[in-house]
Amino acid sequence: MSVTLIENGYLLPMHSRQIIADGAIAFENSRIIYAGPASGFDRAKHRPGKVINAKGKAILPGLVNTHIHLVGAYMKGLTEDVAGSGDTAGLYKRGFPVVCSLADGDYYCGCMTHALEMVMSGTTTFNSTWMNERFAAPVVRDLGARAVLSEWIVGTDLLKLSAKNMERPWDQAMVEKGLDNAQDLFESWHGKANGRITTRISPGGPGYLSDKGIVQARDLAQKHGVGINIHIAEVPGETEFVTKRYGKRPMELGRDLGILTPQTVCFHCVYLNDSDIDIMAETRANLSHTAFHTPKRGYFPPMEKVYKKDVSVSLGTDWCSNDLWKFMRSAILFPRVKTGDVGMMDGYDALRLATVGGARALGMDKDIGTLEVGKKADVILLDLSPPWYRPIREKDLFSNIVYNSNGSDVTDVFVDGEQVVAGKLVKTVNAEEIMRECQERADRIWAKTLPD
Ligand SMILES: [Zn+2]
Repeated sequence: MSVTLIENGYLLPMHSRQIIADGAIAFENSRIIYAGPASGFDRAKHRPGKVINAKGKAILPGLVNTHIHLVGAYMKGLTEDVAGSGDTAGLYKRGFPVVCSLADGDYYCGCMTHALEMVMSGTTTFNSTWMNERFAAPVVRDLGARAVLSEWIVGTDLLKLSAKNMERPWDQAMVEKGLDNAQDLFESWHGKANGRITTRISPGGPGYLSDKGIVQARDLAQKHGVGINIHIAEVPGETEFVTKRYGKRPMELGRDLGILTPQTVCFHCVYLNDSDIDIMAETRANLSHTAFHTPKRGYFPPMEKVYKKDVSVSLGTDWCSNDLWKFMRSAILFPRVKTGDVGMMDGYDALRLATVGGARALGMDKDIGTLEVGKKADVILLDLSPPWYRPIREKDLFSNIVYNSNGSDVTDVFVDGEQVVAGKLVKTVNAEEIMRECQERADRIWAKTLPD
């Protein structure tokens, strides 16, 4: 492969607040060989085979989503406005019944639809987990994204859960099957697709499987030297259940079971008290903040306290909406409204959560998260020509971008040096055909599973 040069754009490398107005980035194969002023690139030496003019565009590192269930495409719009017990009624009444009813053949185009949403809106790396995650792996391979995949290991019937139900009959056979699937996923896919696919181990969470199952999952992760994901302090009722069952809060349980480490990504972390936040800071576990997801359920984590304790934070979408630009704004605005503190975080800080924060959480910051020589060429271009960005004051570009951006303003996406999206069109798969099939399958699934 020859050298690709992207020039004349606003280069935002994200290792600092640096903005290079007439910037350029070049990569050879999958690695960045230049990032700086366009005038400093040695054309004669590198002789680029492909040159892209990014005039009027921002050149950014690909975004990183640290929590996604790819199958969630089948829940699009179904759960957000379901009221009842003031919280997660949509998840229990509609979400789980839909995603637990999928046939093997439903996974590919469902997972691909969510993956397309992410890649087309600028997310190049995502951390996906669900049952039968082996079906998600070909999606990542075919699309050309970078992903961390993990089998969701649960040990109770999801269809019997609710916010108020404190009964959790544990089913160890389910856990054993999940562990087997996780082992198979590791053997089949870890390091595959030129290293774009890696795997982790995902014990469902203290509300989804027993402490014994969590420890088994922890040991499997240690055996393979991979990270852990866990849903924790996620929904109302979980803290009540865990306290009743174990006599301690979810974060205390997680710490005592040895699963909170710098290699662990904790999803949601909404119900945190001060000592829970201290546990996160002490253990250096990573918080995947689902900033545009949890408000739909009527709650938000105490992020104003989390930031003060220097906890490692990144952004995750969970499912349904996966345009990370929305999550950046929510991450800024909800704590700002709650506290009145406008100085807590700004546009740059939010963009850091969606880039470097995610890369660190997944242990991939040596390779992705910023645009620097030697790193992987995961690069996106954001079109700044629409009136919602205009006029542009260079010094305030981070704020301008984060408050005004839409995923649909992303025009070009490179992953590992390969162009996946060009001029807003996906080059690797037939997006239109996939969404047509996804609609047909969704109509069949919903007819079966939704009573109204
Ligand atoms: Zn989740």
